[in-house]
Amino acid sequence: MTTENNALAAFFDLQGRQFAEKCTKCGLCLDVCPVFPSMKAARLGSRAVMEKLTQLLTGGEPSDEVYELVYTCNRGCGLCAKVCPEGLVPDYLALIPAAAKLSERGLKPPRSVYQLVPGHRHNSPNFLSALQIKPSEVRWMMKPPPDPKPVDIVLFTGCALTGTPHVLMESVAILESMGLDFVTLAGGDLCCGLAPTLWGDLQAAQSMGQELVDAIALFKPKKAVFLCGACYITCQGIWPLFTAIPFQSQEIVQFLLENLGRMPFKNKVNKVVTLHDSCQVARIGASPLPRQLLQAIPGVTLVEMAHSGADALCCGGYTNTILPDITEAMRRAPMDEARATGASVMATICGRCQQSFAPFEAQYPFEVQSFTTLLAEAIGVRYEDRFKKLFRTADVPGILAESSENAGANGLTPEEVGKVLPDYVARFCPRRS
Ligand code: SF4
Ligand code: SF4
Repeated sequence: MTTENNALAAFFDLQGRQFAEKCTKCGLCLDVCPVFPSMKAARLGSRAVMEKLTQLLTGGEPSDEVYELVYTCNRGCGLCAKVCPEGLVPDYLALIPAAAKLSERGLKPPRSVYQLVPGHRHNSPNFLSALQIKPSEVRWMMKPPPDPKPVDIVLFTGCALTGTPHVLMESVAILESMGLDFVTLAGGDLCCGLAPTLWGDLQAAQSMGQELVDAIALFKPKKAVFLCGACYITCQGIWPLFTAIPFQSQEIVQFLLENLGRMPFKNKVNKVVTLHDSCQVARIGASPLPRQLLQAIPGVTLVEMAHSGADALCCGGYTNTILPDITEAMRRAPMDEARATGASVMATICGRCQQSFAPFEAQYPFEVQSFTTLLAEAIGVRYEDRFKKLFRTADVPGILAESSENAGANGLTPEEVGKVLPDYVARFCPRRS
């Protein structure tokens, strides 16, 4: 791929070169990185790894250390950007261009990245959803019909949340209760393009982003509402680099806050709730919004963890997919802080965070719930969290038995599920009790 025929490739190539010019290779970014000490590359030291990274960004040769850094970064915590004296953003504006350079040299991402590949039969949204619900239960579209009826709102769920279908069911029920004219498009086959951006396939990222813009535009909506903060940021920050967007867009929390008067609250929730901040929402400075939404739920009392907002601890993020062994401690740290608050619920606003924490719930004195679960309870709606039920232990035969009916209804054979399931068990389930 050349940068001339791909706006994203040209953008990240320039960002990478500018990064390499400004970076002093002081290594402070990797000295605070929570995953760097677990990497083989740490033996070289932070300064030497940053030297190799900047060499790659200016046309030098790839190295094992930079490959490892690119695919181990959790793409969320942003601690590196917070400490950089030059004001650089290494995780996005150095590691994405570096991933593109690795991809140009034919270096493929680690095997487990299939869990993130849009359209892949065994990617996390498609596979996890198939274990939890039957096609007859699905209330969303994976692709738009050829000539759909216009609607006011298209709700795009993103990919991570499609793997927790109870959140999609709740979201649909909440928008229905508000009397809105909407359709729901799920991620899994459709993708905002962020996943291939992170592994450096910028050609795929641009064409997937364009496909999603076109899919939403088919409904001629007044607004697209994004259930996933990462998709919203991609829509705002990445899509305009290569296309015109013929609809307004809004992140779900802000949308619900603006339309709170339409929500028919019936029940008091009466729970003490602590919020785990999504890194994407925190990085755009929008952390107060989910707090306002939770406090608007009748009966909810909000308490804060020791680290919150822009200082919130990471759920393990993208590293869970590639190197789950090193993220268990990261996933437990915010849960330990949530326990210290005395809350009865740790609320999440991101599908990836929900999937990171929910399997550990039985070991803590609180429930892990999406903010949609609390809103749904307040309007009198409840859907079972089958993700949590399946992945609370690393019992592969037990998960196979529990999910066999749904998997069969979705056309997955027991042999096929048995082959893929251990990867997901390794990614999500607790190692120690
Ligand atoms: S965003 Fe990535 S590189 Fe930056 S500190 Fe976090 S894990 Fe490390
Ligand atoms: S802290 Fe900033 S200047 Fe120092 S090595 Fe990292 S990116 Fe470069």
